[in-house]
Amino acid sequence: MDLPRGMRDFGAEDEAGIEQVRSAFLRTASLYGFEHVEPSPIESIQALEAKSGPAIRDEIYHFQDKGGRDVGLRFDLTVGMTRRIAASKSAPLPAKMSSFGGVYRYDEPQKGRYRYFHQWDVEIYGRPSSESDAEVIELTSRLLDSLRLRGVTIEVSHRGLVESRVSQIIGSGDPAKVSDMLRAMDKSSKKPRDEILREFEEYGADAVGAVLDLAAMRGPLDDVRGSVAPGSPAWDELAGVFASLENRGVTNAVVNLGIVRGLDYYTGIVFEAFAEGSGVGALAGGGRYDSLPGAFGRGDIGAAGAAGGVERIMLAMRAQGADGPRGPARVSVVYASPEVQKVAVSITSMLRLAGIHADVDLAGRGMRKQMERAGSSRLALIVGPDELREGNVLLRDMAAGTEGTVPLERLSEDPRAVLSS
Ligand code: AMP
Repeated sequence: MDLPRGMRDFGAEDEAGIEQVRSAFLRTASLYGFEHVEPSPIESIQALEAKSGPAIRDEIYHFQDKGGRDVGLRFDLTVGMTRRIAASKSAPLPAKMSSFGGVYRYDEPQKGRYRYFHQWDVEIYGRPSSESDAEVIELTSRLLDSLRLRGVTIEVSHRGLVESRVSQIIGSGDPAKVSDMLRAMDKSSKKPRDEILREFEEYGADAVGAVLDLAAMRGPLDDVRGSVAPGSPAWDELAGVFASLENRGVTNAVVNLGIVRGLDYYTGIVFEAFAEGSGVGALAGGGRYDSLPGAFGRGDIGAAGAAGGVERIMLAMRAQGADGPRGPARVSVVYASPEVQKVAVSITSMLRLAGIHADVDLAGRGMRKQMERAGSSRLALIVGPDELREGNVLLRDMAAGTEGTVPLERLSEDPRAVLSS
């Protein structure tokens, strides 16, 4: 018997991958002070419509339960968390909530797009601030780093800034027209320019062309300053987020005014995270959506959050060869003789404390056997008596077969440096 279209089972390998992302997420969210919850999988249709109106019915699974109530399966975790915070009037603010679970969407299935998939999600409710925006971006970036994805960039835009520039270009602030142009911008990364110009020809080729040029603007904050409205409150917010990211040591964020995301939902900063060569589009996205708590009766609080697609992250990890607990960042610490075994064990503990998957032989095996075991690791850190006397250890890249010396002092100052050696 076949499964309904777009549905699938998760096999052992999928489960292991989901668990890997889940545990990295739980660790990171807890480090950042988020409280973990799981919203109900079934919501009332009213709650599901709060985010983007009745049109959402086309994109979700909804039905009547046996009591005749109109309900639907959750399509994200944001709706349920926002419903919760709105209902608990006495919750101290800002409230930081995290969640992880399966979500259901009536999307057209294709690579990296499913009808049942997992998301991780973080939300910060309270007074709007650039620090909250930057915090969810920082967490997104650090989480993807902790999964050892390479070439991660966070592309950031500001809906207010883009909308005001678009209405200037088309000479109208009519929300329906501005929204049409945002749709054109959203398509710009997926469709050829000519096709979009034809689709929106009623707005005139010059105007649509200028809007598409805006969508193509990508780079450091200073590079886009001249093309939008520096000095406006929206610009100050965008600049504030970049200043906070710099302060937090997040160096992989760039402006991309082509990032639009949900059409009628975000009110400020929006962002998406990508990994080099992943072949699956955005791994995560988020931003500020101050009007959603209001739809649940809490117009007095703002919200910013981020959600990531777990299966897409797994595909990206696989594409980069970074998947599995025996992934490329794992270090085998090898001791050349029994008298340096204790040093090797203590180096292993230090690496583990720094969050690096590291292993060392416990059985007192000879060097040759240890090197055989190390063959499945990306790196072998070899502790030999001669090198140790000089204050060094050897670092061997197992795939490339290359070897170099690392001073112990450097290793203890910054254990993670071994991964980029
Ligand atoms: P969203 O909740 O639409 O903002 O999406 C957040 C993240 O979930 C995206 O960046 C994707 O990584 C992932 N995602 C969204 N839709 C799907 C889907 N149909 N299948 C798999 N992953 C998805």
